[in-house]
Amino acid sequence: MVNVQNLRTLSRVALILLMAVHVATWYLWGIHAVGSIGIEALFSGLSRGVFNAGFVFWILVLVSAVILGRTFCGWFCWFGGYLELVEWGIGSLKIKIPRRMLLYLGVIPFVSLALKVYNSLIVNWIQGFPTTFTFQLADVEPWGGQQTGISILITLIMFGPVLFFAFGRRAWCRYLCPIGALLKIFGIVGLCKVRLVNDNCNGCGTCNRTCDMQVDVLGELKTHGEVLSSNCIRCLKCTNECPTGAIGFNFNRKETSLSDDASSKAERISLKRRRLSAFDIAITSLWASIMMIFFFLGFQSSSQEIKVLMTPGLLLVTFGLVWIVQKAWSRNKISEPTHFQ
Ligand code: SF4
Ligand code: SF4
Repeated sequence: MVNVQNLRTLSRVALILLMAVHVATWYLWGIHAVGSIGIEALFSGLSRGVFNAGFVFWILVLVSAVILGRTFCGWFCWFGGYLELVEWGIGSLKIKIPRRMLLYLGVIPFVSLALKVYNSLIVNWIQGFPTTFTFQLADVEPWGGQQTGISILITLIMFGPVLFFAFGRRAWCRYLCPIGALLKIFGIVGLCKVRLVNDNCNGCGTCNRTCDMQVDVLGELKTHGEVLSSNCIRCLKCTNECPTGAIGFNFNRKETSLSDDASSKAERISLKRRRLSAFDIAITSLWASIMMIFFFLGFQSSSQEIKVLMTPGLLLVTFGLVWIVQKAWSRNKISEPTHFQ
């Protein structure tokens, strides 16, 4: 039988090859047929009244998300593939950078997405909403002029190894990625989901431990019989690793539920991933406020290198503030995830 994880690797290798061909076609061979498919190209085109290659690509991504949820993140995002490669390479180095309250930093991508939309779309639309639209696939060049070699290098280091040691596996995808923020909605809406397919689950928790996105798989199965988390990227590592074959990736929900024994194990195993408190929300708001202040003080006009450095930088500043407040608030009863993944 074909191994799903090999298929996933294959899809991302194929995507990187396609990207290489795309860039070579444009810059080496001078064939300007299909332009950038990046989300910036989409916003830029819409703001000028152009349906470009970015528009077509993101329509396809959204349609796939309605059917298959965040499959794009798990199967086709080259950056997600890079992160998994980095984590595979350095994952055995158990370097721990202390961290707290990370679960609720989930608001960051939404702020980031809002800024991106504001920057690329609304500012232009305020000056005049386009009344006519044209169709032009080659509208924006594939590799925009903003990136430099240094900014790409910083991006790869900061968002790969640094975020991994600070915040665990696929931290960029869970907390920072604006595209992930957009597609999170489809974690719930997407028709095909990870679901219980029989009553064989023994509550071993392998699914929780396997999940790069730190989804409380077992808790979700206990509560809903399926995974509704907005962080599920349909990588299918959990279904692959489940020793009893109790979960699958299906359109339909089966009439089955966890046994009492598995449910009580689920209660214990998933506890760490379900702590919510007003304190956490306050910290998240703080991060968002800092980000907004920096943005309006000149983040918009900074160089690409500064922007790339600022995102994790602000995250770490917030993290430091959390640390200080927590120390001062020594008797608070907040639990934190302690399991390093
Ligand atoms: S719940 Fe399963 S399919 Fe979803 S991200 Fe986690 S391991 Fe992948
Ligand atoms: S679904 Fe599978 S991996 Fe998850 S707890 Fe049940 S038996 Fe273990």
